Amino acid sequence: PVETLINEVEAITDGRSLHRRLPSDLGNEELSRLGLTLNAMIARLETSFGALRRFTADASHELKTPLTVLRADVERAMHPNAAGSEAMQALEEALHETTRMADLVDSLLTLARADEGRFDLHREPIAMGPLVRDVHETAVILGENSGIDVTLSLLEEGIVDGDVWRLRQLFLNLITNAIKYTPRGGKVELSLSQRIGGEIAFTVRDSGMGIAAVDLPHVFDRFWRADRARSRASERGGFGLGLAISQWIAQAHGGRVSVQSRLGRGSAFTVSLPPSPAIPSSEKPENDRKL
Ligand code: ADP
Repeated sequence: PVETLINEVEAITDGRSLHRRLPSDLGNEELSRLGLTLNAMIARLETSFGALRRFTADASHELKTPLTVLRADVERAMHPNAAGSEAMQALEEALHETTRMADLVDSLLTLARADEGRFDLHREPIAMGPLVRDVHETAVILGENSGIDVTLSLLEEGIVDGDVWRLRQLFLNLITNAIKYTPRGGKVELSLSQRIGGEIAFTVRDSGMGIAAVDLPHVFDRFWRADRARSRASERGGFGLGLAISQWIAQAHGGRVSVQSRLGRGSAFTVSLPPSPAIPSSEKPENDRKL
């Protein structure tokens, strides 16, 4: 039976046969248990190889589109018959595409570093009240530009051992999404509360287009967008990496991002973070790193 096991494992680990599994009955109980353990390991390998392949394919595809547009723009600008204004317009478009590509590469780098565990978080006690108040001020300005009223409905105090830049990035990601996916005249409401047990919750609730129940399990997947084609064509134009990065930031702080949503009614994204164990919440640190 050991010989059989070796042959089967060798056949499976050639990389292309990860869908195969070892037989469940290997003769004796101990070997069968070993078989089960190896099967579980092969299943995990199959999942991560699949994710890797999909990620590479998606990333190449996302880079290919702006490159094609960029090339067409430059060709248009260089055309001997292109008038000055036409050439300038083409170059402006080219510039826009390079900015988009730079954003994409930035996000990919962030995720790659996170995967490798090579990302430095500069954690220190952060008073969440002032941070959320500051983020709200920025959100009001962002909302004004899109005709959306951003309010802060609840602001409790709480202290988190966190990286103030990353937390700010996380909160603003959720706010920008809420504004992006809410039509003019809509509302976005922020709140910060401390739950029983001390967990700190920051919620962004919008009255926007919402997410279908079947799509909800995928919103944090890399490159996932409710409507790929439209998101590329419209100015919304995200890459579907923002929520993956947000989830990573929350998890790196020992927390998580969760979502509740109804199609056509709006969404609520909540960041839950563990409170700082070191400091009783009566002592409030100054957030002295400039925001
Ligand atoms: P994107 O850059 O496309 O916004 P995200 O990872 O931030 O990428 O979001 C992934 C997808 O989840 C979006 O394309 C959108 O379809 C959906 N989504 C995210 N936030 C909201 C929201 N507040 N309301 C409705 N849909 C949302």
